Amino acid sequence: MLEKELVIIGGGPAGYAAGLYAARADINAVLIERGMPGGQAASTEWIENYPGFPGGIGGLDLALKMDEQARSFGLEIMNADVEKLERQGDEFIVYTAQEPVKAKAVILATGAKPQFLGVEGESKFHGRGVSYCATCDGAFFRDKTVAVVGGGDAAVEEAIFLTKFARKVYIIHRRGELRATKLIQKRAMANEKIEFLWFSVVDRVLGEDKVEAVRIKDVRTEAMQDVPVDGVFVYVGTRANSDLVQDLVETDARGYIAANDKMETGVPGLYVAGDIRQKPLRQVVTAVADGAVAAMEVEKYLASREE
Ligand code: NAP
Repeated sequence: MLEKELVIIGGGPAGYAAGLYAARADINAVLIERGMPGGQAASTEWIENYPGFPGGIGGLDLALKMDEQARSFGLEIMNADVEKLERQGDEFIVYTAQEPVKAKAVILATGAKPQFLGVEGESKFHGRGVSYCATCDGAFFRDKTVAVVGGGDAAVEEAIFLTKFARKVYIIHRRGELRATKLIQKRAMANEKIEFLWFSVVDRVLGEDKVEAVRIKDVRTEAMQDVPVDGVFVYVGTRANSDLVQDLVETDARGYIAANDKMETGVPGLYVAGDIRQKPLRQVVTAVADGAVAAMEVEKYLASREE
């Protein structure tokens, strides 16, 4: 079994920041990531609100820079899927398909994933017309008509992005007012390719072999209407990736974990950082802050165990 002082699970901005700070603090750490670096941020086309990059930076580019920076300080990065996290005495055992890792502390930075709508037709067309990632799939909809479901930052920003390809983009929102930031709202309202379908929820996705329409319901009148579209992009919020610790800590209904301002969870040695945490603002800038705090608290925790 490998032995480490710290295992960081998840290679999004929170995990990388934790890794950077841990490496610089000379903590014997490994960051375990199952896919590409960057988490959800990496599939964001363009990030305009991360300080230090006037004009913005591509999400994947930022992720690759974080990876390069953390590695330059000697952070070990393992590409593996963590299958199980176990508490044994005052240690943790992290299981992957490779050799298990024993650790004194764990920073869980596994982030969040898109919330599904849970309507008929959604799973049938998942990956074949129903998508949760405009950056990944937008280009398939050149000169087509698409619907974006949701009214938050993600929905409205990605709807604007989709206008690069699509002929027309509907934003289907359940209220008469967007949740998205004012600046993003303004841009969407000024975009001629975007049409808002207010007070509407998706009842089902329709089509034989491919997506042909969405049936929407007006929440005020219950009236149904079929809107012809070629694709549906769902941005109705997120769910935390916290299954690994469901027996160790409590979560809220969407899987998010409460932590104090030191990122402590209540289980000694177990920290959370980034989008997985209950917090008022899920952004790259808050994720990296969490990661840095968690790593510095781990340093203190490890020192206290030596005493
Ligand atoms: P969000 O802010 O939670 O917005 C979710 C949207 O989906 C809301 O408009 C919500 O409607 C709607 N919704 C939720 N459940 C629904 C359902 N079952 N049916 C129909 N509509 C539903 O989620 P998000 O946009 O994914 O953003 C997540 C976090 O990332 C936020 O903190 C956001 O600020 C951040 N983010 C920031 C940026 C940026 O700053 N550039 C970009 C992307 C994401 P209601 O409004 O009625 O609740």
